[in-house]
Amino acid sequence: MGTDPYVWLDKSLAALHRAHRYRTVAAVYGMTGTVVQRQGQTLINFASNDYLGLASDPRLAEAAIAAIQTYGTGSTGSRLLSGHRELHGELEQALAALKGTEDAIVFSSGYLANMGAIAALVGSPDLILGDEYNHSSLKSGGKVSGANALDYRHGDVAHLEELLKLYRDRHRRCLITTDSVFSMDGDLCPLAAILDLAENYHAMVLVDEAHGTGVFGARGSGAVEHLGCTGRPLVTVGTLSKAVGSLGGYVAGSTVLIDFLRNRSPSWIYTTGLSPADTAAALAAVKIIQQETWRREMLWHQVNHLIQQIDQILTEPAVVPFGLRRLPSASPIICLEGASAEAILTASQHLQSAGLWVAAVRPPTVPTSRLRITVMATHKPHHLHQLVTGLQTLNQG
Ligand SMILES: *Cc1c(COP(=O)(O)O)cnc(C)c1O
Repeated sequence: MGTDPYVWLDKSLAALHRAHRYRTVAAVYGMTGTVVQRQGQTLINFASNDYLGLASDPRLAEAAIAAIQTYGTGSTGSRLLSGHRELHGELEQALAALKGTEDAIVFSSGYLANMGAIAALVGSPDLILGDEYNHSSLKSGGKVSGANALDYRHGDVAHLEELLKLYRDRHRRCLITTDSVFSMDGDLCPLAAILDLAENYHAMVLVDEAHGTGVFGARGSGAVEHLGCTGRPLVTVGTLSKAVGSLGGYVAGSTVLIDFLRNRSPSWIYTTGLSPADTAAALAAVKIIQQETWRREMLWHQVNHLIQQIDQILTEPAVVPFGLRRLPSASPIICLEGASAEAILTASQHLQSAGLWVAAVRPPTVPTSRLRITVMATHKPHHLHQLVTGLQTLNQG
């Protein structure tokens, strides 16, 4: 008795230190972009989700400033009360057009969009089958919903079918959830096969396009378009904070789905409407994504070039001390898995001293530690060249 009830916090933090899992934040100074100021250094940025370079585009800034001057900074209430502006409706229509769906609904973040959609669509009598590598927001949505949430092995359609055979009949509704582009691996889900199974087993499918939107598909619609699944019955979720360069999230789908979410999604109903500035910036970005196809073409050109160069390096024994291995990434997210959290941290620090910012992603975010390299459309050839040189000389750092 009489002991401090918070004393366990110190012990818990000490355990994180010992496991090399302790984290801190470091500020980026000034404008974001392909080159940033951080920890007193000028670094080439391979750690951003701003795939098209739109977060620093003056047209988004102008749209945001104009919206603040017109509407003010806050939207002052929830959408159903005082928080709805015409701008929200315009953005929702633009997103539906980009996605090729009947309608869309904008949330305050992608995290809240997943939580809100899942909790509205399923409850305790229902089943959720999710890819084991799904984003945290999909997993949280499953927990909040109260449904029986089970994981299938990453990308494994046969395992998904096994679980459907075993569990589908014992539940009322079934929702299959998956990232379209896996955020910490950079690979794609087998969406067409998942949709076929869903049809056979009378299941709904929710796909998270956080890293697909603006990046995949001829129209920039996302991985659903790229995988030939536009128009199939789907609940599509995404974020406005990655290639769209703003903040917020959305769900796109049928009129009846979106109408239902407006009435039943707690993380949309009980939160303040997206700010006018964020809404206007996102609206400007959605137009640019459709008009400036060169951004997507440039991005893919750089991704393919970099993957080729990295694969070349990884055949050279010089890099082997870090045990680096490229995961089967098929997107602007290129992941190099390493032997341990410590090795990956050291590799990331060596790259930083060479002026390169590459994120070290460690458990519990991912099962195995890795360097996560993200490519932007606006990287210059010499930025990529410097990264290749940095990787080549890793063990000399
Ligand atoms: C980033 C991300 C989210 C969350 O989006 P925010 O708008 O940042 O909250 C959801 N799902 C995936 C797969 C993500 O990578």
